[in-house]
Amino acid sequence: MNWHWQCAYCGIWTDNEIPLLIEFNKKHRKQAFCCSDECKEKARFFYGRIKRMTPLFLVLVAISGLFIIAGILYTIFISAGCLIMGVTALVLPYATSEQFAEYGVKKTVKLVRIIGALSITILCPLFIILHIMQISIL
Ligand SMILES: [Zn+2]
Repeated sequence: MNWHWQCAYCGIWTDNEIPLLIEFNKKHRKQAFCCSDECKEKARFFYGRIKRMTPLFLVLVAISGLFIIAGILYTIFISAGCLIMGVTALVLPYATSEQFAEYGVKKTVKLVRIIGALSITILCPLFIILHIMQISIL
C-alpha cells in the first residue's frame, strides 16, 4: 500500500487528509495532515505549547551549553551541564520543528525523552566519576 500522508502527531501513514497548519513562528509555517480529529487536537495543543515554551527551552539549552564549556576548567561542570540538558529534555521535550514535522510529534517526544534520560543516568554520573578520578590523580 502506498499511503499519502504521515500523521503529524502519531506518525502513522494514512490516506485521511485532516489538514493542520503548523505555525512555528510568524514567518515559518507548514501545512501538515493528521489521521484523525483527535490527533489534530493533540498536535495543535503541542505546537501551541512549543511556541510558548521555546524561549525558556533555548535559555536552558544555553545554560547547559555554558556549563559544558566550563568543563574545560572542571570536569564536574560537564556533568552539571548534562543534568540540566537531560532535565530540560524530559520536561520540555522539544527538538527542532523540522524533526517534529518529519517524524511526527509522538515519536520525536519519545526519542528526545530517551536522550534526556540517558544524559541524566549515564553522562552525568560518568563525568562525576571522571572528575573524582582527575582529583585523585592530582
Ligand atoms: Zn494520527
